Amino acid sequence: MRHIAIVGSGPAGYYTAEAAQKAFGDDVRVDVFDMLPVPYGLIRTGVAPDHQSIKGVARRYEKTALTENVRFVGNVAIGRDLEIAELQELYDAVVLATGAPRDRQLGMPGEDLENVFGSAAFVGWYNGHPEFADLDPDLSGDTAVVIGMGNVALDVARILAKTVEELEGSDIVSHAYDALNASSIERIIILGRRGPHQIMMTPKELGELGSLERAAPHVERDDLPEEVEDAMLEPGLRKSVTLLRQYAATPEHIRAEKQIAIEFAFFTQPKSLIGNDKVEQIEIEHTKLEKGRAVGTGEIRQLPAQLVISCIGYQTAPIPGVPFDTRAGRFANDDGRILPGLYCVGWAKRGPSGTIGTNRPDGQGIVELIAADLADGTLGRGGKSGREGFDELASKRGLDVVTFQDWKKIEEAEAAAARDGAPREKFVDIEAMIRASSR
Ligand code: NAP
Repeated sequence: MRHIAIVGSGPAGYYTAEAAQKAFGDDVRVDVFDMLPVPYGLIRTGVAPDHQSIKGVARRYEKTALTENVRFVGNVAIGRDLEIAELQELYDAVVLATGAPRDRQLGMPGEDLENVFGSAAFVGWYNGHPEFADLDPDLSGDTAVVIGMGNVALDVARILAKTVEELEGSDIVSHAYDALNASSIERIIILGRRGPHQIMMTPKELGELGSLERAAPHVERDDLPEEVEDAMLEPGLRKSVTLLRQYAATPEHIRAEKQIAIEFAFFTQPKSLIGNDKVEQIEIEHTKLEKGRAVGTGEIRQLPAQLVISCIGYQTAPIPGVPFDTRAGRFANDDGRILPGLYCVGWAKRGPSGTIGTNRPDGQGIVELIAADLADGTLGRGGKSGREGFDELASKRGLDVVTFQDWKKIEEAEAAAARDGAPREKFVDIEAMIRASSR
């Protein structure tokens, strides 16, 4: 029998568990750890609450979780409850599938002012991540600035712009639903340091901005390159740019009918945030493109900004004892191998890019590496104690492990507490989750 520990129960974790299950069948036992008492990582706390169809992939992970040789071990944090070296003593292979839950910093003056958040914190707040449930952003100003032109920036702008009626079938947590219902924001400025041809926004997500009840996207015609130049773009990006052209062509009187303007500010890089305690303005510099890079033109101005959310990408959280590539913001690895017997997968391996589905071949790839390392003796001759050894250690340490069956009780309680039309009302603190799991 071989024993694999997977740290992280999001898409990368469960696709790896599924691949291990398929490759090794009854010859393997897989334990999937999570620091939260609830599974699915990014699916639960990253994917937008109004994108329920994407969240449906959790049903596939549940199938894996319910197989005999795969086990969920919730409420256990590696690096806090257990050292990575201890995990390696117990399991033949340890796979870090911890994603990229930390915000990248802007590194500019004023970043620490109140009401300035990174997207991990802000998305975590409206998605009920226990770490960010108390964020309490102030939505009483009229202008929000969203920095970055990727899909996360679109998620954040869309959630800020939607009416509560539009959020009805979502699983946005009540504290955010109530705060958004009382929001005074009328202007959402999305800042991009480069131009329309350099956006990271995909067409489906960008297209959603065009059909919002009380908000309309505003794009300046002059920011768009000559239309013939679109022919050189890859098809997805070309579709997104076509949408920007449609938004730019919408007559002003139609856009003015909507209460909220979502303005695309291209060729604009943030310089500093200004305010006393709380942010009031953002200083920006106009840019031009030189060999694809944004270069400042020296033209500086200030924009109002009573709420700032930077959506400029994420980093992996380091774990003591695991080599880390600080510049890249992920574990130092050679195509998934960190050290003998220690691997990483998904965003923890390659950084925060791609779709949820990208993690499937990623998981298969890591399992192929493990199979090769087992075959050539890199992982020793077996005889590790695996889950039995972990259970012994957990009971010695008094760890309050949450099992998959416990999670199903949490899930049931969340479904029972849902608003009308919503799939669930998430627990936002760990104690409440654990109480529900032990009913
Ligand atoms: P992203 O796609 O990498 O976009 C980051 C954006 O931030 C880029 O526009 C980038 O501009 C900008 N940026 C980076 N550093 C900056 C700085 N210092 N100042 C100003 N702007 C800066 O990252 P993301 O939006 O966080 O998304 C992460 C991944 O999740 C992506 O693969 C995304 O597609 C995926 N995702 C998918 C969905 C969905 O499918 N519905 C939803 C959310 C996220 P430059 O290009 O100039 O660097």
